[in-house]
Amino acid sequence: MPENIVISESKDRHQRLCRLCKQPFSGRADKIFCSATCKANYHIKLHKVTMDASERIDKILHRNRSILLEIMGKNSIQKKVPRALLDSKKFHFGYITHYHTNVQNKMVHYVYDFSWMIFSDQEILIKRIQASGRD
Ligand SMILES: [Zn+2]
Repeated sequence: MPENIVISESKDRHQRLCRLCKQPFSGRADKIFCSATCKANYHIKLHKVTMDASERIDKILHRNRSILLEIMGKNSIQKKVPRALLDSKKFHFGYITHYHTNVQNKMVHYVYDFSWMIFSDQEILIKRIQASGRD
């Protein structure tokens, strides 16, 4: 019956504002954008804001990884080098992607697929993290 359709429509179709263009629209209660274009543009904008905000730190992390790669070369699994070598290449010790504390209670710092750990003699042990299942 036409009357039922009208009732169910008015229940579901709440009037609200699009998250991006702020124009009023109606539709399902869980809809937050007026159109697919606004939805896509919102995500493009969100991605750009995140890229701009993280660019400076990303560059430092990428540079750190390049320094470790340069020291390790293509094939080394691990290498112990003086801290001064990393200092001379302007390695940023404070910029890591993650860390963990090993069984000797030493902190292992990660820069993507490389790790480094400092010893009391100011030597740095660098390791290449190998994907599991390979050797
Ligand atoms: Zn919109």
